[in-house]
Amino acid sequence: MRYADTKKVLVTGGAGFLGSHLCERLLAQGHEVLCVDNFFTGTRLNVAHLIGEPRFELMRHDVTFPLYVEVDEIYNLACPASPVHYQFDPVQTTKTSVHGAINVLGLAKRLKAKVLQASTSEVYGDPEVHPQPEEYWGRVNPIGYRSCYDEGKRCAETLFFDYHRQHALEIKVVRIFNTYGPRMHPNDGRVVSNLVVQALTGADITLYGDGRQTRSFCYVDDLVEGLIRMMETGPEVTGPINVGNPGEFTIRELAEQVIALTGSRSRIVHRPLPPDDPRQRRPDIAKARAVLGWEPAVPLREGLTRTIGYFRDFLDRTP
Ligand code: NAD
Ligand code: UDP
Ligand code: UDP
Repeated sequence: MRYADTKKVLVTGGAGFLGSHLCERLLAQGHEVLCVDNFFTGTRLNVAHLIGEPRFELMRHDVTFPLYVEVDEIYNLACPASPVHYQFDPVQTTKTSVHGAINVLGLAKRLKAKVLQASTSEVYGDPEVHPQPEEYWGRVNPIGYRSCYDEGKRCAETLFFDYHRQHALEIKVVRIFNTYGPRMHPNDGRVVSNLVVQALTGADITLYGDGRQTRSFCYVDDLVEGLIRMMETGPEVTGPINVGNPGEFTIRELAEQVIALTGSRSRIVHRPLPPDDPRQRRPDIAKARAVLGWEPAVPLREGLTRTIGYFRDFLDRTP
């Protein structure tokens, strides 16, 4: 039996880093959660603690294929997020974003369900407007190594807005900025997991380029809170809306914080900057503040401390 105010919620990509935290939070709110994942970058281990919970169901499925299930709300997170993973099979990355969006939107249309898209700050590309407000259209290379991800996500946004206009679908588009925390893949190539694992294992800390490029890092709990608040808005709120932490740091500053917090003796080494690597990135979160009453609560130092604790345990358990 379900309580009147609980819902059946589909989370695609639910066995990934962000998805697993979202599933956890939705279950804690009393909802039923259907987690759909093809385990490309996510793993059963990320949701192992939820298996056995009667309101949680895990389903292996690739969102590039149609999906016929019955749910009230949909969070579409399925897509590899780390440059190393999304460039491994770039054609599949575009298919996941574009065919995945079509299937999820078709599903939402049939069910008249609300549907939220996990979009990305990468839709702004290498931006010449700083910080980035939602009105900025971005500067994206359509034919580069990052394009499968950036353009795939841009096309997914287009599909969301066309289904909204053409089929009156209730959509929510959230542009997520760099997010970090426990359950990041230990070797997925993203900067926080790379640096923390390198610092904890005494390996060289790899700074790409001169390390003066900037990013703004949001702790996962803050991000999940933003997604849930967005889903709870009325039909007039479609987004796109930036969700991220406006605190901006150079990658060198990040490396120095990680070294200080771990007490590591690792040395910093430089590696070539990957092609099309954005020079700077910081969200303008005025809309999230006004519309969602949301802003991040966890400062970088605290979030890094929690993340380091997670990776310390993880490395102890994993030979
Ligand atoms: P992740 O790689 O940990 O999670 C993605 C999940 O999607 C994985 O579990 C993966 O197995 C699954 N997946 C991939 N392709 C699939 C397919 N075809 N069918 C079904 N499942 C599939 O990454 P994450 O950081 O948790 O990112 C989640 C979402 O948030 C992604 O859509 C990503 O683009 C978006 N996002 C994340 C960040 C960030 O900093 N973490 C920033 C911007 C946007
Ligand atoms: N779809 C799905 N589950 C559903 C309904 C639709 O996966 O419950 C898929 C279906 O395969 C279709 C896509 O979503 O290709 C788009 O659906 P839509 O109704 O918009 O288009 P159509 O079915 O007319 O192609
Ligand atoms: N980066 C780095 N060392 C690493 C991994 C990444 O200096 O070991 C840099 C990367 O070049 C980029 C920034 O850190 O400028 C963030 O990279 P990430 O892959 O985490 O995210 P994205 O580039 O998609 O924002």
